[in-house]
Amino acid sequence: MKSKNLLLYCILAGIVLGGICGWVFGKKMLAVDWIGELFLDSLKMLVIPLVFSSMIVGISGLGDIRKVGKTGLMTLLYYTATTGIAVFIGLVLVNIINPGLGLEMTAEIPEHVQGKEPAGLTDIFRSFVTPNLVNSMANMDILPIIVFALLFGGVLTTLGEKGQLVISFFDGVNEAIMKIVDLVLYFAPIGIFALISSKLGAAGGGEAFLAELMKIGKYSMTVILAILIHGLLVLPSILYFVTRRNPLVYAKNVSEALTTAFSTASSSATLPVTIECAEQNNKVSRRASLFVLPLGATVNMDGTALYEAVAAIFIAQMAGVTLGFTGQATIFLTATLAAIGAAGIPEAGLVTMILVLQSVGLPLEGIGMLLAIDWFLDRWRTTLNVWGDSVGAAVIDTLEQKYVEGGSNGN
Ligand code: ASP
Repeated sequence: MKSKNLLLYCILAGIVLGGICGWVFGKKMLAVDWIGELFLDSLKMLVIPLVFSSMIVGISGLGDIRKVGKTGLMTLLYYTATTGIAVFIGLVLVNIINPGLGLEMTAEIPEHVQGKEPAGLTDIFRSFVTPNLVNSMANMDILPIIVFALLFGGVLTTLGEKGQLVISFFDGVNEAIMKIVDLVLYFAPIGIFALISSKLGAAGGGEAFLAELMKIGKYSMTVILAILIHGLLVLPSILYFVTRRNPLVYAKNVSEALTTAFSTASSSATLPVTIECAEQNNKVSRRASLFVLPLGATVNMDGTALYEAVAAIFIAQMAGVTLGFTGQATIFLTATLAAIGAAGIPEAGLVTMILVLQSVGLPLEGIGMLLAIDWFLDRWRTTLNVWGDSVGAAVIDTLEQKYVEGGSNGN
């Protein structure tokens, strides 16, 4: 436990020092960029085998297909409900603060958003299945891998002895990967330092960053305030009332995952650490964390959903478009869906925002206004995404024990 605390302090020191160095030395800090990338890649390297083995072990731990169905349904309900609350908070705040009023829209449609305009609802559904599993693995396209692993694990549980053999193979794979996560985490303080300092450096250092932030300062403040309300009030209350766990202790135990999320801006890359924190530190049952967390890293994004809703209204305000109840309700729905469709990678939310803007006919140029500062807000929303998943693991664990009863393989 002591060494865990020490690691945490070193990670926190990494964040603070990274911020200071990036602020003061600016572009010079790009020299340590490769160290950050090395850390990020070592985490990403583990994601595919981890997702695959986790889903199989998680599913088989839940027991028969009816239990899987019930737990799956509870998980989806939890995800949808909390994402809905997050979007609602975002909408209320942006309508009170009105960050876009009086601002002029001067940007153009950003390049990486161009050419992706036809993205729509059907694309989200289509992304559930892949014609080529290997291709999806190579592209870290996690959603179809989860769907496949769910089917695969589900079928294995029906195959008797032969199936058990394969399940215990993947159980071993899973434990081995988690051991590697332990090792990679020792590297986290330096990796996180490098990621933060080089990113702030790339933005031109403290002063340049502050100048960009100030241009849309009210908007950034609205996003961060909404994230704080959801992350510090709503989610902890749900955690406490459903599981009776102390939210402060729970949060401290997932702080390695939260800091990794903040520095990598990727819920997928953070997933190995999120699972480690839930299982090892918070003692969430293995079957719950292995089932709930990989799913959450791809579909449960409270921060992203909230952000997309705030951004859409912000753009409407800048464009002088007044959205009535129907318009806001459309944004509520599409932001929730767009967050489900967003991949757990940096700035994925910017691209899925097209769906939200198009649903109410807002100009895509608005995304250009958010671009310069998105790398920063991305970190906040990713941290909330991971926090939402972590709370979800404990909540589903409790609900599963209460209403579905323990499966065969969990501990
Ligand atoms: N970076 C976010 C994540 O990985 C997704 C986004 O909002 O861009 O969770």
